[in-house]
Amino acid sequence: MTPQELLKIKFGYDSFRPGQATAINDILAHKNVLTIMPTGGGKSLCYQIPALLLDGVTLVVSPLIALMKDQVDALNENGIPATFINSTLSFDEIDNRFKQAKNSEVKLLYVSPERLDSGAFSQLAALPIDLVAVDEAHCISQWGHDFRPSYLALTNHLHQLPSHPAIIALTATATPRVAEDIKARLGLSEEVKTGFERDNLAFKVVKNQDSDRYLLDYLKLNSDQSGIIYASTRKEVERLTRLLQKYHFSVTMYHGGLSRDERRQNQDDFLYDRALVMVATNAFGMGIDKSNVRFVIHDSIPGSLEAYYQEAGRAGRDGLPSEAILLFKMADVQTQHFFIEQSDRNEQVKEREFQKLQTMVQYANTEECLQQFILHYFGEEGPTCGRCSNCLDTRESQDITVETQKVLSCVRRMNEHFGKTLVAQVLAGSKDQKVMKFHFNTLSTYGIMQDQSKRQITELIDYLTAAGYLTAEGGQFPVLKVTPLGLTVLTGQQKVSRKVAVQATKALPEND
Ligand code: ADP
Repeated sequence: MTPQELLKIKFGYDSFRPGQATAINDILAHKNVLTIMPTGGGKSLCYQIPALLLDGVTLVVSPLIALMKDQVDALNENGIPATFINSTLSFDEIDNRFKQAKNSEVKLLYVSPERLDSGAFSQLAALPIDLVAVDEAHCISQWGHDFRPSYLALTNHLHQLPSHPAIIALTATATPRVAEDIKARLGLSEEVKTGFERDNLAFKVVKNQDSDRYLLDYLKLNSDQSGIIYASTRKEVERLTRLLQKYHFSVTMYHGGLSRDERRQNQDDFLYDRALVMVATNAFGMGIDKSNVRFVIHDSIPGSLEAYYQEAGRAGRDGLPSEAILLFKMADVQTQHFFIEQSDRNEQVKEREFQKLQTMVQYANTEECLQQFILHYFGEEGPTCGRCSNCLDTRESQDITVETQKVLSCVRRMNEHFGKTLVAQVLAGSKDQKVMKFHFNTLSTYGIMQDQSKRQITELIDYLTAAGYLTAEGGQFPVLKVTPLGLTVLTGQQKVSRKVAVQATKALPEND
């Protein structure tokens, strides 16, 4: 049978999605391939079809223990023999399943990397494995946003498999650097990458508004739609759920602190539309295949653009117009900062997390097309989308060249050694201890923006960073430096414009 025939007979689809046929042909030609496709792009078929065409077993390595059973059940329902091995099973059961695989009674065997770490590897080595699929492959890269050491350990094992299987790695989120890392570690020569652009998603950034008010208004306007609201902590998930329930919206919730039964129940309520809105931490969503999610709202800034795009991408898997909204508040950035600071990760990892957070702040502050901003980050070019809140922003542009010059020259006068908080304080003419200690009150730029609040100045700095006039580098305390583009503004060769600032309907209190 050909891959095309299998697609029709076993899966009931008429044609391949972009990239699927190439990935499948690579595997059948025994080439190792990295497949990068957006969420919902159809990654699973890229190894499920070869699994049916190859003689032996396909080993699927996945970190998503909670979903393995569902994936395997779905295959079995299609008449495809598959099973899984993970830590939820008894030893006897695991032995039993290994025997099935050894006797070629299953075509696909799903395992979690933790299993490969332990003695189970010698049992795997005895299996007739023709293909290994490494799902969520960004987890093996330290440059990724969800690095898992057990995944890295796995890479060494794969090449020891005596049956020399082909390898396919799959992910929905990989910057060029992460992609290179995965390829090097797994020894992959090929790459299949389909466009990251999601042309049915409209990205929106809503700044400095009362999020509770926004959510209530939004749900009222979209009361018959299904959506996900992401909050940053379990406590916040519970608070929001209670609030929305009080206003009689059809909501349920999901976070790691709930019992397994509750999580399963709530997830099912959402999947089967018994509850329209899911309020959740980022523990919810990996592998969830609900097609009619019309909106994903982030009540608070996520830690990275990779995580954001993956979570936002859960909207509109059916291809119909959907929204991805980020409610941006500077105070949330400070909270995230605090989380990273307090974590017990090593300094290098923390440094990277601070940088990823910084990119998110830039996303929230850019005036570029939001879809384009994301594509650039993932190393792709693309036209402006015409749908995002920046593309649709019809406010007038204002010339802010003079203000920009004030900021940039202050950064220069402070010898490009300090971060935005202190620069904003100096510009606002603050008498803060640190300002005095460094004698910044004697600079000619001290207080030259005292007509503006520190928050307004900080936002302007974020905007100028997003627009490339400044860089903010260094992890925990990013230091501002003027870029070559910024220098052209200082010398009067370049003008800077910005859309007129929004008047927030209900501004949050200043937090400086
Ligand atoms: P991913 O893992 O990339 O997020 P999945 O493999 O879960 O995506 O596929 C998403 C959905 O698209 C599934 O419901 C799947 O059955 C469907 N799908 C995959 N390939 C095709 C195809 N060629 N034609 C139509 N639907 C497809």
